[in-house]
Amino acid sequence: METTTTPRTRALIERVRTFCDAHVLPRNREMLAHEMTDPADDPPFVAQLREKARAEGLWNFAMTELDPGRPGEPMSNTDYAVLAEYLGRVLWSSKVFNCQWPDVPNMVALQQWATPQQKQAWLDPLLDGDCHSAFAMTEPAVASSDARNIGTRIRRDGDQYVLDGEKWYITGAGHPRCRFYMLLGQTDPDAAPGSRHSVVMVPRDTPGLTIGAPSTFFGYREPSGPAHSLRFEGVRVPIENRIGAEGDGLRVAQARLAPARLHHCMRGIGISELLIELMLSRGRERHTFGRPIADYDAVQHAVALSRVDVEQMRLLTHSVAARVDRLGAKGAFRELAILKVGVAQAMYRVAERAVQVFGAMAGYQGAPVANAYAWARAFRIGDGPDEVHLRTIFRMESAPTETLDESPYVLPPSSSGLSASARA
Ligand SMILES: Cc1cc2nc3c(=O)[nH]c(=O)nc-3n(C[C@H](O)[C@H](O)[C@H](O)COP(=O)(O)OP(=O)(O)OC[C@H]3O[C@@H](n4cnc5c(N)ncnc54)[C@H](O)[C@@H]3O)c2cc1C
Repeated sequence: METTTTPRTRALIERVRTFCDAHVLPRNREMLAHEMTDPADDPPFVAQLREKARAEGLWNFAMTELDPGRPGEPMSNTDYAVLAEYLGRVLWSSKVFNCQWPDVPNMVALQQWATPQQKQAWLDPLLDGDCHSAFAMTEPAVASSDARNIGTRIRRDGDQYVLDGEKWYITGAGHPRCRFYMLLGQTDPDAAPGSRHSVVMVPRDTPGLTIGAPSTFFGYREPSGPAHSLRFEGVRVPIENRIGAEGDGLRVAQARLAPARLHHCMRGIGISELLIELMLSRGRERHTFGRPIADYDAVQHAVALSRVDVEQMRLLTHSVAARVDRLGAKGAFRELAILKVGVAQAMYRVAERAVQVFGAMAGYQGAPVANAYAWARAFRIGDGPDEVHLRTIFRMESAPTETLDESPYVLPPSSSGLSASARA
């Protein structure tokens, strides 16, 4: 597909590729081995590579805007789509350039909603790469795909908020360098449904906060670290930690969900491209009944259908990225829902085919097939399950006003001699 990146972006992407060829890919096998044995923390070379990337000006590409003087190279979504696809091939590489999730979506929400003092406290350390963060919304007690169900209580007590509740599946919450959580909870259960919630920032070491055991998704751990549960029992934070006004919580959360979905889709293309390459290699190397398995239609179709999926994923992603650049996330609400379902399902189809082509080796964590499969499956649930996005899409379809009998596109069965009773 032809892309419309600017010369500046093309030059940056070239520098990122050169950096990855020299420093990231040679470490990838070491990282794969590390992830199988010590999933909680990053190996020391990640911090060294982050320092090196930052020194070379290869830093914070995933933000579309930064305040003057803040470190990084902000990019439009259209431009970042090309870079993020490349970074998707090796998921931990996003971390080297400070483009990792869940930090980036948190940074985007803080950039949009935080006061200058709050930016200093929460955004700057993330932009500088001094620490990581997590986003704490989902709760075991309620169906969290409807964010209005979120029940963790945020009660005002003088100049503090007191938090009580339990979260789970919070990506990166237990990473040793995760310093704070962006938490969604209820400040006013009696307010209108869209205004009951608020977002507050909670430092990790606050008394009353307990981090539970790590949980993977079918054994898959994201590069930001495994997910954890978090228990809040009488946790106190100053009211200055609230982002936006009381009742703005769902809107602040939306601000981070748009880049979260968009960037995962961009990386999903890179993962899928890699899976096609791996299927081709595996297809050439394995022989059954005297022929490489790549000689059989089934494997050829697995590759070809995956190519069809990838090209569609890319076209859709670039088109939605351009719309978000033009109209903002609000103006692309419907398109982001279409993108999320379309890419998550397409990526899942590609990963499913790769599993079949790889046979038993698909389940081996040292090859990226198992991780891609688990990740693709998780992506159909996280950041809004398929069904919730399909509901949004359906609700934004406008039904024609005429009945089928009135429609100029339909010959009513009555005109063809069918009686009304036969039609019923
Ligand atoms: C790998 C991974 C990482 C995650 N990281 C984070 C994180 O960092 N922070 C965080 O807060 N959360 C995180 N989550 C949680 C994720 O956001 C939730 O799982 C998701 O929002 C769905 O909520 P739920 O699990 O409560 O499912 P539920 O809300 O209980 O929904 C279960 C199922 O019900 C069906 N359903 C729901 N609504 C409808 C509908 N309207 N129509 C038809 N069917 C419907 C869907 O099939 C859905 O999958 C993560 C999840 C995974 C898997």
